[in-house]
Amino acid sequence: MVTTLDRRQWLKTAGAALAGVALTSQVSKLRAQHEVDKSAARAEPIKINGNENPFGPSPAAIAAIMQTVDISCRYPFKEAQALTKLISEKEGVPQDYIVLGVGSGEILDTTGIHYGLAKGEIVTAQPGYLQLINVAERFGGKAVWVPLDKELKHDLSAMASKVSDKTTLVYVCNPNNPSGTIVNAAELREFIKSVSPKAPVFVDEAYLDCADDYAGNTMVDMVRKGHNVVVARTFSKIHGMAGLRIGYGIMQPKIAKEIKAYSTGSVNMLGVVAASASLQDKAFIDECRKKIKAGRDALVAVAKELNKPYAVPQGNFVFIKTGMNIKDFSEKMKAENVLVGRPFPPMLDWCRISIGLPEEMAVCHQAMRKVLAAS
Ligand code: PLP
Repeated sequence: MVTTLDRRQWLKTAGAALAGVALTSQVSKLRAQHEVDKSAARAEPIKINGNENPFGPSPAAIAAIMQTVDISCRYPFKEAQALTKLISEKEGVPQDYIVLGVGSGEILDTTGIHYGLAKGEIVTAQPGYLQLINVAERFGGKAVWVPLDKELKHDLSAMASKVSDKTTLVYVCNPNNPSGTIVNAAELREFIKSVSPKAPVFVDEAYLDCADDYAGNTMVDMVRKGHNVVVARTFSKIHGMAGLRIGYGIMQPKIAKEIKAYSTGSVNMLGVVAASASLQDKAFIDECRKKIKAGRDALVAVAKELNKPYAVPQGNFVFIKTGMNIKDFSEKMKAENVLVGRPFPPMLDWCRISIGLPEEMAVCHQAMRKVLAAS
């Protein structure tokens, strides 16, 4: 019989044995094996409907988890503080500008509650990511929808024209989900300067690390300069840790205090230590960005081959005009063992496809050829 003590001892021994260089290489081997297993066993459908990153988590994050399992009987106060410190150094803001969340989803939810309760209007793009908007509407706010422009980017001037004294928040998702497009950074900075004195601008950067130029496009500098901006970021996408539920927001301390009041969750030990390790594993992040870009390029090539329009993608997914109703298209793809994105009204003959492992994408490409050739 394996007792708790045996188990702890084993974990300690395993953790110690895995320390240092040996640890990284062993975790890499495990990871490679895991990827082979994931792609070889095709009993499960290929899951490219949730904008996850199958290349993660980083070996450093997995190692941190293994070394920490044994102390997960403790609350992660010290570890969460260490993560907040790391983030504050990376983002160049004081620690009271940072709110950790159970995924960036918690930052969206608490912000949605706060500004929903203000009962005003929230200006946002359509189609867009609805989590914050849905929560805000549930608590009394009202969405003001502004269609994306012809290139399926945020139409910033149309959005600015909708901001009034009733507006309590403006939500910009950059890159946008589901279109994957990014707005011009200089235009977004001007937009923030003109709009944020009237209402805070929430910039959701969940996918920005996947973009070609993260540094030139992040709006954290606008927070640093004192503008009324909230930037949300997550470990679910490029860090490949969606199941570990860690994200954060960067904002003026006054807003941080206001939204924290609505938090009901709290971050977990394994997610926190994995996030700290992953933040410091720049080589892994760069590698993921390359793999995701290669996956995007290959998917775009298939869209071109099939003569299907697409939005210029900068996230870990591509939005393609299949010309087929999304329900029919997703059912036909499911019959080929491939799960693709959900409906995004009003663009119901478009489909969002996430970037999976190369072998998974090869199956997806073939399925698209089969399903769309007949259309
Ligand atoms: N923001 C955007 C644009 C998303 O697409 C998602 C999830 O898909 C989230 C935020 C929330 O992600 P998480 O709670 O995993 O950080």
